[in-house]
Amino acid sequence: MQVPFLSLKEVTELHSKEINEAVGRVVNSGWYLQGAENEKFEADFAKYIGTKYCVGVANGLDALIWILRAYIELGRLHKGDEVLVPANTYIATILAISENGLVPVLVEPKLETLEIDDDLLESKISSKTKAIMIVHLYGRCAYTNKIEEICKKHNLYLFEDNAQAHGCQFNGKRTGSLGNAAAHSFYPGKNLGALGDAGAVTTDDEEVAKCIRALANYGSSKKYVFDYIGRNSRLDEIQAAVLDVKLKYLEQDNDRRKAVAKTYIDGIKNPKIFVPETKDFTANAFHLFPVLCEKRDELQQYLKEKGIGTVIHYPIPPHKQKCYKDWNGMSLPVTEKIAAQELSLPIGPTIADEQVQYVVDCVNEWE
Ligand SMILES: *Cc1c(COP(=O)(O)O)cnc(C)c1O
Repeated sequence: MQVPFLSLKEVTELHSKEINEAVGRVVNSGWYLQGAENEKFEADFAKYIGTKYCVGVANGLDALIWILRAYIELGRLHKGDEVLVPANTYIATILAISENGLVPVLVEPKLETLEIDDDLLESKISSKTKAIMIVHLYGRCAYTNKIEEICKKHNLYLFEDNAQAHGCQFNGKRTGSLGNAAAHSFYPGKNLGALGDAGAVTTDDEEVAKCIRALANYGSSKKYVFDYIGRNSRLDEIQAAVLDVKLKYLEQDNDRRKAVAKTYIDGIKNPKIFVPETKDFTANAFHLFPVLCEKRDELQQYLKEKGIGTVIHYPIPPHKQKCYKDWNGMSLPVTEKIAAQELSLPIGPTIADEQVQYVVDCVNEWE
């Protein structure tokens, strides 16, 4: 049996009739940017997340960059301010902080949850710390009551990187609505994926929403009037139309992810494989299904021979990358352990029951 890690072709085929109709509608409309499709998707996505505003932008990295840039433009953050961020995140989160002249302060995750360790946060706070950027990595909720308390106590802004967690919840509220502003990526492989690059920011803050809308449109909020030194970072009408179709099915698609995850959680019994905490199904959008294994590379090779595709998220942590060479000597043992041991098993809205069971059987037979 073949089990691809994720078949985007199948994911698109799930809703292809409506997607093709939506694309055709935009093609025939003659209007390709800043139109009705953006307006509709932004309204629908804001409602889904539970925020007053949503601003569509070109991709998830830009969404992150624009949030921080807007806070600088509005005088709330200043170059040199420190932003706490999980050390094991996908590098985009950290790039966005650096790009804005802010200082990323890496915080180790907890091994049991793979999310930022809220017990370590206070020890990392200095007089320059102004914000925490949490990342709901793998689709798992990184937000905790303790993080909320720390933000209040130390007067810190809270931002969310929700690129991997569309549909994830905390106490009945969706991630993306828990802090001051949140960045979303609609990269094709994400839970809500476009047919190309796309992203958005959600927030309840009107000033921030307006500022970001201008920044992503050359810094202009009125034609030929420029308030900021912006860029062109807009969401196009075709992607907005596609996303609006897929948003309708996001819960259904996520339910399928949950069923797959449940089979893995109940079925995987191999003592050599550690499955991180997965108790609360509402607090997990199951974007990925990460497991840890000491002989990860051998496991991956074995699964490959069995026809099963897996991916490592992520093999080299940001502090070991050449682009951050000043950090290369840093020791972050939990982050490094995850980088050495993490393997993501196939999960998605299209994987069949027999395929999931086959993965469980193969994983259990491995010694
Ligand atoms: C995908 C991703 C991003 C970047 O999104 P793009 O749309 O690819 O620019 C940022 N952060 C995390 C955690 C991601 O997974």
